[in-house]
Amino acid sequence: YLQLQGVRKMFGETRVLDHVDLSIREGELVTLLGPSGCGKSTLLRCIAGLAELDGGRILLENKDLAKQPPRSRQVGMVFQSYALFPNLTVSENVEYGMKMRGIARPARRSRCEELLALVDLEEKHDVYPQSLSGGQQQRVALARSLAVQPKVLLLDEPLSALDAKIRKNLRAEIREIQKRLRMTTLFVTHDQEEALILSDRICIMNQGRIVQDGSPEALYTAPRTEFVARFMGSYN
Ligand code: ATP
Ligand code: MG
Repeated sequence: YLQLQGVRKMFGETRVLDHVDLSIREGELVTLLGPSGCGKSTLLRCIAGLAELDGGRILLENKDLAKQPPRSRQVGMVFQSYALFPNLTVSENVEYGMKMRGIARPARRSRCEELLALVDLEEKHDVYPQSLSGGQQQRVALARSLAVQPKVLLLDEPLSALDAKIRKNLRAEIREIQKRLRMTTLFVTHDQEEALILSDRICIMNQGRIVQDGSPEALYTAPRTEFVARFMGSYN
């Protein structure tokens, strides 16, 4: 469904992504787990079209994404810092992408209602982001990313700015919504517990490469390298 083939990305002399191969089936939630600086955000940015590749290909339903401008890619993204527009209300934030794509107001309205219900924020249509908690802002960001009916959802450490209790609730909510919509999702984190609980499959990344790819159980019980073992916490 989503396929990355030999993806490379350089920043100057530094090889940030080094031949990344990854494929995600429709409806699957794959977690990209790895230490800070290993290239996780860069990989998501390449898929979303916010950064250009220096090699390799990214295919969505067998079509090369490089041929599609970022705006018309059917990819939704949620960032670590909520990145909502502070001067727009909750519903204006959610409707923004639909407006950009020329979707008429009544259709935007009803889609927005649906999405705010999905993330449990029906009451918050007309408030501004700064009056919401971090968890609520991140739910708005999730609704906004789903508004344009993406084929792939990219979540870049969406929970890391939240405190523990809210993080756990939202984690469960995201998984539930992902399953309900059968949304193909690439979830980035450096938290192994989060990865174990959420994922259909986990890809461990280190220094721009995917070093092991498998089910949560397989990675936990049969890590191929000491790095993976340490990272999964199965190493003593
Ligand atoms: P974290 O878990 O801290 O978010 P990450 O895995 O998302 O880390 P990236 O943000 O993808 O890591 O960064 C990977 C590497 O690329 C880092 O060494 C970073 O310094 C470098 N890098 C990222 N963006 C740029 C840029 N615009 N220009 C130069 N170097 C960059
Ligand atoms: Mg990052």
